[in-house]
Amino acid sequence: RVIVGTKVDQNHVNWVTAYNMLTGIRFTVSRINAKFDRELTPADFEAKHKFSFDITGNELTPSAKYDFKFKDYAPWVFRHLRAKFRLDPADYLMSLTSKYILSELGSPGKSGSFFYFSRDYKYIIKTIHHSEHKLLRRILPEYYKHVEQNPNTLISQFYGLHRVKMAYGRKIHFVVMNNLFPPHRDIHETFDLKGSTVGRDLREEDLEKNPRATLKDLNWLRRNRRLECGPDKREVFIAQLRRDVELLQRLKIMDYSLLVGIHDMSRGNEEKLRDKTLQVFQPGGDREEEAPEMLMRTPSKLENERKARELRMLIKKERPVPLDQAAAKMPDEILDERKFHIFYSDDGGFRATHENGAAGQEIYYLGIIDCLTHYGMLKKMEHFFKGISQDRTQISPIPPEGYGDRFIKFVTGITMSKEEAERHREAQDAE
Ligand code: ATP
Ligand code: CA
Ligand code: CA
Repeated sequence: RVIVGTKVDQNHVNWVTAYNMLTGIRFTVSRINAKFDRELTPADFEAKHKFSFDITGNELTPSAKYDFKFKDYAPWVFRHLRAKFRLDPADYLMSLTSKYILSELGSPGKSGSFFYFSRDYKYIIKTIHHSEHKLLRRILPEYYKHVEQNPNTLISQFYGLHRVKMAYGRKIHFVVMNNLFPPHRDIHETFDLKGSTVGRDLREEDLEKNPRATLKDLNWLRRNRRLECGPDKREVFIAQLRRDVELLQRLKIMDYSLLVGIHDMSRGNEEKLRDKTLQVFQPGGDREEEAPEMLMRTPSKLENERKARELRMLIKKERPVPLDQAAAKMPDEILDERKFHIFYSDDGGFRATHENGAAGQEIYYLGIIDCLTHYGMLKKMEHFFKGISQDRTQISPIPPEGYGDRFIKFVTGITMSKEEAERHREAQDAE
C-alpha cells in the first residue's frame, strides 16, 4: 500500500503534538544559538533543561497555543553537532518552525515510531522509545567523537533530542535527523538492507500494489542488484562503513540497516513534475494509503531564501546576541551543506560509477539508519525464539559483533564488480 506524507494541519489527530514539538524546538534552538559559542564540557553531555509552556507565557518561555512541558537534552552538544554537519542555524529553524506545517509519514508500525518531515523535507522527526532515548544519551560522547573524527560518517545525523509532554498526556521522546532522500529528486527504488536473509523480503505482489514500497535484502539479491561504485569510491565507502560499524559494535548496537534510495537519471523526475509527489517510503510494516492531495509541495529556492532572511531578522529581534558565524552565510549557500560530505555531494547523493571510472545513470542516496537499538533482553529473547525454527546466523536479531560482521560482508559483496565477485566465489569454493 502506498504511503504518502500526510499534511499535519489543525484537523489532524497529531496536530497538537506536532505543534508543541516544533514550538519547543524553535524555542530551545534559538535559545542555545543566541549564546556565544564555547568549548564543550563533559557536563554538556548530561545536561537537560525543562521548560513549561502555557497560554500566558512567563519570564522564561513565550506564550504558546497549548499547555505543555518540553525537555531539551544536551543542547550544547547538538548545537556543535549541527555545526559539524554544517547546518545553517537559521535554515534549521526555518525548516522546523511551527508556522510551516510538517507532514506525517504513516502511523506507528512495528516499532511504534512516528515519522514527520519538516516542510521542506530536509529533516525527519522520529519519535523514539524510552530505551532508544536512554541509549542515545548514553552513547552521545562516543557518537560526538565519531562525528568529529569521521566527517563522512554514514550513520544517521542527529540534530536534536527532545521530549514533549502534554497536559495529561504521556511523554514522547523524539530525535531530529537528516532525511537521506532529497526533496528535489524522485526516488525510484528504495532498499532497507541488513544483511539478514530470513524474512527480509517484500512480496512482489505488494510491490505491484505500491511501487514505492521499501524493498529488502532478498529483493535486492533476486534482482541481482549491485551498488556500482568503481574501485576508488568503493574503497572510500567500505572504509567508512567499517569505521561506522566498528563504533556500533563497540556500543553493542544492532538491528540497523543500510538505507539505499536510487534515483534513475534516465527516468528523471517525471513523476514529481507531474503531480508534485515527493518521495514515498514505508517505515516499519504496512500502512494505510493516504490521499494524494495531502502531499506537500517543496518550497522553491527563492521562497526558502526569503524565509531564511525573514527568520534571521526575527531571531535578531528576539535575541540581541549575535548568532553563529554560520548564520552569516550567503543565502545561496544555505541549501548546500551536503556538498561537504563525500557520499552526499553528487546532487545530494552518491553517483553510481562504473568499473572504468565512467559515471553511471543512477544516484544513490544512502546511510545507516535505525541505529539506536541496544542488544538487550528483548532482542536476546527474539534471537532465541527465532533461532529455534530458523538458521541462527541468518535471522535479523543476532549479537552486535556478528550483526556488524554480517552487515559489512553483505555490503562489501554488493559493491564488488562482477569479475571480483566471480573470483571471490571461486576462492570460497576452493576452500
Ligand atoms: P523497525 O524498528 O520496525 O525497523 P522503525 O520504526 O525503527 O522500524 P526505521 O527502521 O528507522 O523505523 O525506518 C523505517 C523506514 O523509514 C526506513 O526503511 C526508511 O524507508 C524510512 N527512513 C527512516 N529513516 C530515514 C532517513 N533518515 N531518511 C530517509 N528515510 C528514512
Ligand atoms: Ca528498521
Ligand atoms: Ca527500530
